[in-house]
Amino acid sequence: MTQDAHKQRYEGRCLCGSVSFVIEAVFDGFFLCHCSHCRKGSGSAHASNLFSSTATLTWLSGEELVSHYQIPNSRHARNFCKQCGSPLPRIVRAKDDEAETDGGLVVPAGCLDTPLPLLPTAHIFTGSRADWDHELETIPQFEDFPR
Ligand SMILES: [Zn+2]
Ligand SMILES: [Zn+2]
Repeated sequence: MTQDAHKQRYEGRCLCGSVSFVIEAVFDGFFLCHCSHCRKGSGSAHASNLFSSTATLTWLSGEELVSHYQIPNSRHARNFCKQCGSPLPRIVRAKDDEAETDGGLVVPAGCLDTPLPLLPTAHIFTGSRADWDHELETIPQFEDFPR
């Protein structure tokens, strides 16, 4: 059995559907990053990124719409759809992200359509949490819009 035999196939796309892709991966980690960059980039309490050092990424459509942004003089970068702004996977060639160590592929969990076989590994950069990001499981919950 080769390492590739253990890889699973994941499909994903952006919100507008223009960009779609396939990933063959074994994910090494799944981190919820609360740093200020990830909060800005996601517009939410944290980014939710999967990491793999051996994954392959194939764009199926819309590759020309994939934009890259790197904060100057920082290790923080993100890929996103030029049309709808959705976060998209990116290949890391060096140490350019807080949670990345060995290079590989970073995949925003929300852009995948294939169910994931793993739960998040850890919350990271919790020292940078938003001031409203505490005990969120304890507030009222509704299956759809509150009535
Ligand atoms: Zn899009
Ligand atoms: Zn972060």
